Amino acid sequence: MKVQENYQTIRSNIQKICERIGRNPDEIKVIAVTKYVSIDRAKAAIDAGVIHLGENRDEGLNDKYAELGDDAVWHFIGSLQTRKVKNIIDKIEYIHSLDRFSLAKEIDKRAEKLVKCFVQVNVSGEASKHGISPDEVIEFIKELETLSSIQIVGLMTMAPFTDDVDTIRTCFRQLKKLQKDVQALNLENAPCLELSMGMSNDYEIAVEEGATFIRIGTSLVGKETGGV
Ligand SMILES: *Cc1c(COP(=O)(O)O)cnc(C)c1O
Repeated sequence: MKVQENYQTIRSNIQKICERIGRNPDEIKVIAVTKYVSIDRAKAAIDAGVIHLGENRDEGLNDKYAELGDDAVWHFIGSLQTRKVKNIIDKIEYIHSLDRFSLAKEIDKRAEKLVKCFVQVNVSGEASKHGISPDEVIEFIKELETLSSIQIVGLMTMAPFTDDVDTIRTCFRQLKKLQKDVQALNLENAPCLELSMGMSNDYEIAVEEGATFIRIGTSLVGKETGGV
């Protein structure tokens, strides 16, 4: 597994898309999702120049943070149980999976500084996907105004698991549209400038549709046995 080569390939793909559609490639941050791999592999990503690391379990985050803590910006990307908030809150800079008020309240209670949160939206409506439904997003974000440690930096989604490019593209476009609706509210707690969308299989479409954070596991750091 050549993590550095993979990273260069991904960055060069981003660069080409950006040239074609007129975006600034610096707007697009790559999160190395290290949930399937060892600490060594996560370190290889950092050595290759990756700044952002993402984990979806508190154990995985804590293990890697113990070794690499200061060398990366940490993202929590998985569904988050309320009782686990206290295990991660002092390590992460971003949470990508805010999807209910009870979770927001716990984050706010435990936070020692502003926590940058993405509201996870279930755009595709698949029952297997986490996230709140698109028509509840505005109301939810307004409710969060009372929680002073929560900043809604953006929206996050996972596209349906399919090869159909149009279906994936439609999903990302809907998230972009929703982002504009949130921005139009002009809420102090919700600048909503970021879009967290795109994984190994669909990040190129996500970049075309406005992603600012892409979350890449398999095609960047791979999968190992022994990983979570
Ligand atoms: C695992 C995971 C990813 C990365 O998936 P790959 O297909 O391996 O790139 C991205 N986002 C979330 C929320 C994940 O759980």
